[in-house]
Amino acid sequence: MQAPIWLRVALDVPLDGPFDYRSTTPVQAGQRVIVPFGRRQLVGMVLDVVDAPAVDPQLVRDVERVLDDVEPLPADWLRLTGFAAAYYHRPLGEVMLPALPGPLRKPSAYQGKRAGAGPVARLLARRRRADAAPTEAPDARAELAATAPTLNPAQREAVDAIQAETGYAAFLLHGVTGSGKTEVYLHAAAHALTRGRQVLLLVPEINLTPQLQRALVSRLQKMAGEDGVAVLHSGLAESERLAAWLAAVTGRARVVLGTRLSLLTPLPQLGLIVVDEEHDPSYKQQEGLRYSARDLAVWRARDLDIPVVLGSATPSLETWHHAERGQYRRLALPARAVAATPPAMRLLDTRNVRLEQGMAPELLAAIGKRLEQREQVLVFLNRRGYAPVLHCGACGWVSDCTRCSAHLVLHRARAGTVLCCHHCGARERVPHACPDCGNQDLQPMGRGTQRVEEHLAERFPQARIARIDADSTRLKGSAEQLFARVHAGEIDILVGTQMVAKGHDFRNLGLVGVLNADAMLFSQDFRAPERLFAQLMQVAGRAGRHLGGSQVIIQTGYPEQPVYQALLRHDYQGFAAYGLAERRSAGLPPFSFQALLTAESDELALTLGFLEEARALGEQCQDGQTTVMLYDPVPLRVVRVNRVERAQLLVESPHRPALQAFLRAWLAALAGVPSPRRLRWQLEVDPLEI
Ligand code: ADP
Ligand code: ZN
Ligand code: ZN
Repeated sequence: MQAPIWLRVALDVPLDGPFDYRSTTPVQAGQRVIVPFGRRQLVGMVLDVVDAPAVDPQLVRDVERVLDDVEPLPADWLRLTGFAAAYYHRPLGEVMLPALPGPLRKPSAYQGKRAGAGPVARLLARRRRADAAPTEAPDARAELAATAPTLNPAQREAVDAIQAETGYAAFLLHGVTGSGKTEVYLHAAAHALTRGRQVLLLVPEINLTPQLQRALVSRLQKMAGEDGVAVLHSGLAESERLAAWLAAVTGRARVVLGTRLSLLTPLPQLGLIVVDEEHDPSYKQQEGLRYSARDLAVWRARDLDIPVVLGSATPSLETWHHAERGQYRRLALPARAVAATPPAMRLLDTRNVRLEQGMAPELLAAIGKRLEQREQVLVFLNRRGYAPVLHCGACGWVSDCTRCSAHLVLHRARAGTVLCCHHCGARERVPHACPDCGNQDLQPMGRGTQRVEEHLAERFPQARIARIDADSTRLKGSAEQLFARVHAGEIDILVGTQMVAKGHDFRNLGLVGVLNADAMLFSQDFRAPERLFAQLMQVAGRAGRHLGGSQVIIQTGYPEQPVYQALLRHDYQGFAAYGLAERRSAGLPPFSFQALLTAESDELALTLGFLEEARALGEQCQDGQTTVMLYDPVPLRVVRVNRVERAQLLVESPHRPALQAFLRAWLAALAGVPSPRRLRWQLEVDPLEI
């Protein structure tokens, strides 16, 4: 009889693991196995082959099947996911398995009638059939030389610096919108390809992938080969994602372009990582494994000893701080690559101005003038819907959600006007009279994109107006269609939320008007000014990319605020210096490290009670060395969502290792607390929103 092979396996279960199994066929770390777990069957990841199991060999169950349709995943991928699990304090299997495409982690994909084939074999068979069909010969790409501009000196310097590094180096590519960062990425990527390495390029949003994909394909395909560019994001169908993932893992794809989840793709020859718009909050996953793809990208580059490039016009203060301290190398692209003049910034003080539907006469006049000149106008307002609340002037009643501590937002829908909750999704009919006093004259208060659109249509009846927000782009492909109409010059005024701020290059945009920016300024989150600065710089960057004399008008009641003053001067560095000085004096990140324990139950007292207990346990875990500060538990800003009451407890330390050690001890202690039945809690490391 053959000697048994003992395995340690990670499983996607909410238990720590790893789990011991026995195999009679040879198997390696990085391979997947189908194993029995309780009465279920699961796909697990083999972490190790060991001499003896950690438990009584009699209790160890047999592997049902060793899967060999994919090469064993590389050791560095096991290290990366292992690090993420340890750093974010999640069970290893809950990190590793969800990082794989769905079909590769379902036992059912390998069972039944087609057992033996499995999803990979089926995919390859389909592809062979498709390949057998005749295809048109590809164009010879004369295009390559034609589309590549000559680098300007700043770009040249940046590209040279990146190309000079083969080992670990972290670069901050700091360049205003339109300064040609993409061009730098393309050159650095091409260089890595010539050295036989793969390139991983991260973007914050799916919306931005088609543009960059076209650039990558047109410029790099010669080197990367047919199928050489793979795209990975959560909007793909399962089979598409599997195909792209396999191309990446087998090395067939030389360039992988994707959103945050693509950071966890195994890439056997990875030689360069680029993180575009590194400051973007979308790099932080907000559920499950709450990782920062940007931070993990830097870790992965260091682990693999390869360069990583973080690009932004408005770097996060964390990244800027690293650059100031010399941990990251700063590469600057100070000017726009094409249109030489950046838009003129103007703060429009609204304190003594009579607004017309939220807009100052001066802004409306400026819009009219641009329309006369046949230029496009963008009105930016980060609030969707018609009005944020409905109100009774007689008794003070406001439209509140019964399930959430939030107002119901007035929306104009095809079927008429409705009240919607942006937190739980509740939809209600608009009452014809005040439920409290019977007054029939209920008024919308404030305004969202729909109301602004409506007013602009009345005010400028000749103008062709489009609105781009989460409501108007709900249908797949509708965002692309709307943007295409803007690009084709079929739209004169575009009203939009942050969806319009990113990436898009509007050739004929002469004016950007910003409404209601102050609402973001006074949020209690300490990162609010940083986010506002980034967002307004980004939206300002939409103007005048190809046009001289463009303008940005920001309406505010607080023009003296440092954020606005820095914007006026296009002064990121001044803003960052001010912001970092404030953070330093308050002991906030990046001068400290934080974690957030969030709990929820159907009763606020229960939620807070649990957090109080957690806090007491935490104090005990400190054993006299108070390097970690535990704050008082507090209800979340929107405390109740869908009848669930939520609260949080913030912990903070000036030392990352001290915080990590504390979290390990604390979580172990918390695991021993029988948490009330109706209560759920979770921990987030390096939270972005607190
Ligand atoms: P960013 O990514 O920094 O916002 P892009 O890379 O999109 O900027 O460049 C903005 C525009 O400038 C693009 O249309 C690009 O083709 C053009 N561009 C970039 N570099 C050059 C250059 N060296 N010469 C001419 N045009 C350039
Ligand atoms: Zn009333
Ligand atoms: Zn609600």
